[in-house]
Amino acid sequence: MKKILIGTHNKGKFREIAYLLPKKYKKISPISLKLKSPKETGKTFISNSRLKVKFFSKYVNFPIISDDSGLCIEALNNKPGIYSARLAKKYGSFFKAMQFLLKKMKKKRNRKATFVCCLSYKNIHGKIISAVGKLKGRISISIIGKKGFGYDPIFIPQNQSITFGQMSKSKKIKMDHRFLAFKKLKKKIKI
Ligand code: IMP
Repeated sequence: MKKILIGTHNKGKFREIAYLLPKKYKKISPISLKLKSPKETGKTFISNSRLKVKFFSKYVNFPIISDDSGLCIEALNNKPGIYSARLAKKYGSFFKAMQFLLKKMKKKRNRKATFVCCLSYKNIHGKIISAVGKLKGRISISIIGKKGFGYDPIFIPQNQSITFGQMSKSKKIKMDHRFLAFKKLKKKIKI
């Protein structure tokens, strides 16, 4: 069976990327190989997702797919953006980070937000192909829902009335930023 490394330590992301990939692949996690994740030194989603596949390719000789993603809130100058994971680390949990963001949003009339994902794929010949997916939506008034991961309970996707935290996994994965990035990636390469 062909192997692919899904270069992320985030279990929510791993599950979603694994779901998007064809069944022919045995999906390997860096955790099972005892690999750490690289420092995210890039200034953009694209540069961070590319540095992740480059980093993991030092350790495996099969294809790698990694993502860099985050929540961009218009009224907060598109923050936390690439710092989404780091914000949760700073506050100790995603719940506390969401509380912080909702407090910042209290007096804001503009609640528009976008979930962004850049997926990068590195083949065994060393070529890296990237694609970006963006999903528009809005920030909810409170933290709602226990499904999903990360900032899912405060994001209501466009044309929906519930947060990702209230949505079933199978519905979310067919519309989110990772799905949109994967659709674009598949147009560029045969995975
Ligand atoms: P990074 O790509 O490792 O920098 O982490 C991105 C962070 O953005 C994750 O830890 C989550 O907090 C957040 N994030 C990315 N995609 C999603 C999603 O689909 N739902 C909820 N939070 C997400």
